Amino acid sequence: MDTGTHLNGRVDRAALAALRKREEAAFAARTPKSRAWLEAARASMPNGVPVAWMAGLYRHNSIVAGGGAGAFFRDIDGNRYCDFNVCDLAMTMGYGPPPIVEAVSRAVANGAHFLLAVEDTRAVTEELARRVGLPAWQFTLSASAANTEVMRIARFMTGRTKILIFDGQYHGHIEESLVTQRGNETVPIQLGLSARTAKESIIVPFNDLAAAEAALKAHEIALVITEPALTNCLLVEPKPGFIEGLGALARQYGALLCLDEAHTFQFEYGGMAGSRKLDCDFVTLGKGLGTGVSFALYGMTRAIADVMEKHLDSDIGLDIGSKGLATGGTTYGSAIAVAAAKAALEQVLTPENYARVDSLGKTLAEGLETVFRKHGLDWRAFHLGPRSGYCLKPDFPTNAEEASESMDIEMIDARRVFMANREVWDAVVSAGPQVSFAHSAEDIARYVSLADAFLAEIVR
Ligand code: PMP
Repeated sequence: MDTGTHLNGRVDRAALAALRKREEAAFAARTPKSRAWLEAARASMPNGVPVAWMAGLYRHNSIVAGGGAGAFFRDIDGNRYCDFNVCDLAMTMGYGPPPIVEAVSRAVANGAHFLLAVEDTRAVTEELARRVGLPAWQFTLSASAANTEVMRIARFMTGRTKILIFDGQYHGHIEESLVTQRGNETVPIQLGLSARTAKESIIVPFNDLAAAEAALKAHEIALVITEPALTNCLLVEPKPGFIEGLGALARQYGALLCLDEAHTFQFEYGGMAGSRKLDCDFVTLGKGLGTGVSFALYGMTRAIADVMEKHLDSDIGLDIGSKGLATGGTTYGSAIAVAAAKAALEQVLTPENYARVDSLGKTLAEGLETVFRKHGLDWRAFHLGPRSGYCLKPDFPTNAEEASESMDIEMIDARRVFMANREVWDAVVSAGPQVSFAHSAEDIARYVSLADAFLAEIVR
């Protein structure tokens, strides 16, 4: 990445390195209890954390959470953070939102799970059908698992195996999408993945219908899957007609289209599929709809629901040849998940609250652009509903390659530790600051003023 060119030489790399060193030392000095705890925890957990990637998200030392309320959480050293990462959107309702606490507590007391539907389950699926525009829904525990089931159904329905994905995508920790292009080959991007499964995926640039058509023409693709706007390589919005064009191409060449709205459902009321009336076969929702409760869902057309009904996998099926679709899990669709989803949809994910976070997102983006101008930078601030971020160029990216020019890891990592020392927890590297349903205008102002202070130290 040629950071020098697109930053116009305005970022003083020596000043950035010095700031980072200073801030990392300050952060380490503020978090001794966390450090000792994590070191001791290594005896019972690799890297001292319950999920290894928690330790790989930042370059500065990790911390141990002590609890949270609203837009803030604290670590075990007693430091407070106003959270603009919100667990990469799994906590967009903030910490301890009363409607979710009340509904989930009641559900736990009343029986967390029965491996049966509960009366409220329908309220969730019917409301999602109304908002998103797809009639039928299934629960899983994670968006990764939802996308896995979508791929299986698409493979069964089309009799094909290949999956079309877009450069810059992330659809979860699943073999088909943890891949990258190397020469003519699609290969795994991490260790422990199947090189054979990686070959089932074809990667083309986002916003490039001609490339998508070229891939679809061989009639081998079962599923086209994309976020309606790429949110895991900062932000890439679809060009007008791109998603609609993908839908038409998928239909023309006999593939199915899934819109992965694990993130974007929280950007617009009904997700982008619902709010923009995007035609597709599946929609994936994830991250507990931002409640922090572990569940996800996927929606499907009536035709696909009919296939699921016809090909029900039955445990009392006698004949191995009559086995049905490989979906489901014992902890999926629990009463807790239903309670959280119902309370979220009825009391938090309301049109008024979406309008409020959209407006705060606009304030954040405008605030950042004012700061950029003040420092003589021709950068832009992303703004898609509550999502903002730093575009280090005068034009917004149209694909992942262009977006990568704004992914200046040194700067992002230095900024997040600078902010952490000043009570703000910034987004992970691939995202951008996210306004949550718990944030106030004061929180946004705090973020913008810290961005200003950070740039004042490194821009020359
Ligand atoms: N799809 C998208 C678009 C995502 O951003 C993510 C998580 N970042 C996932 C799927 C996977 O979600 P989970 O980790 O909850 O399975």
